[in-house]
Amino acid sequence: MERISSLYLHVPFCTWLCKYCDFNAYAVLEGLIPQYVEALAGEIEAQKARLPVGPLETVFIGGGTPSLLTREQLRLLLDRVRAIGLRQDAEVTLEANPSNVTAERVEGWLELGINRLSIGVQSLQPGALRFLERLHSGVEAIEAIRTARAAGFRNINGDLLYGVPGVDLSGWMETLETVIDEGIDHLSAYELTVEQGTRLGQEVRTGLVRMPDADSQLEQYWAAVDRLEAAGFVHYEISNWARPGRTCRHNLANWHYRPYLGCGAGAHSMFRLDEGTTERRWNVKGPHAYIKRIAQGQDAADDREQLSHDRALGEAAMIGVRLMGGTPTTGNFLDVRRQLVESGLLIARLRPLPSRARISRRAGRPSRGSARR
Ligand code: SF4
Repeated sequence: MERISSLYLHVPFCTWLCKYCDFNAYAVLEGLIPQYVEALAGEIEAQKARLPVGPLETVFIGGGTPSLLTREQLRLLLDRVRAIGLRQDAEVTLEANPSNVTAERVEGWLELGINRLSIGVQSLQPGALRFLERLHSGVEAIEAIRTARAAGFRNINGDLLYGVPGVDLSGWMETLETVIDEGIDHLSAYELTVEQGTRLGQEVRTGLVRMPDADSQLEQYWAAVDRLEAAGFVHYEISNWARPGRTCRHNLANWHYRPYLGCGAGAHSMFRLDEGTTERRWNVKGPHAYIKRIAQGQDAADDREQLSHDRALGEAAMIGVRLMGGTPTTGNFLDVRRQLVESGLLIARLRPLPSRARISRRAGRPSRGSARR
């Protein structure tokens, strides 16, 4: 099996379940956090013994809201990660809710070796934050960026959502401008999509909420593309922009179809087996079931599938087209593409659509089929 150098850790707890969220996230289960963290640490240790993993180049702690964990809980997880082997220059990302970003917490995160913070800003418009049921205000989101920067974070991402009902182009641009002015290093901007099974999905189905039409959503997307380019950001993936040298190495590994290990409830993994096949695995989704499996010394994997070389190649190409620079793993896909263009079946240069082809945003994150944000 090819050596694995990217690790995703899933923390599925949130203070409140936002109405558009279909991530594998659970509110009001905060009492479970201590047991869950023990189980997660146990899984990391068990996988170290089973798999050729490490030294790690990237670690991504996502959720849910992993910024709910205490310093000691994060320390336990990162101690287990270090036992696998963590490169000196590894990228270690923590997702944080703006309400959790205090000077004390940030100092602790830095002390633990977390060097990239991904803050869920989403919007700075009060109406949008209310609509999305986010618990923070725009002021708190900006404060979170400033606090992280002042404490010493040199690599800060802001997650934004566009296409939110009630936010017109000027409102969206106001959010974008303010975040750019705060000197953010990286931006992920996703279209608000309506997922089946969420409360937003139900509100749209019953006519309570009307989503903006596709044209106005695209207008917001292209306005962001132009503005961020003018501000010196590199547009390196359909929904991601970075200041030079600040691309997200963890997500790039995923988009380049490199193997990764996902630990935690509902986390996905992808391994490259010796015989040229690719294996996908996904863990049991519910935190209770996950804790039970680990406590009984069992593998947390709920199911797995093997992909033939050709199928994996096609999948790598599908993921790779998200990248503005293409992907080196597409192999003979480029020949196939050329043939399709020559025969008129494919248009050579399409402007990328922002979210219709949206896939799992982060390696190992529970994807469609399980629940995600
Ligand atoms: S959107 Fe984020 S904060 Fe809201 S419920 Fe989902 S994971 Fe939790």
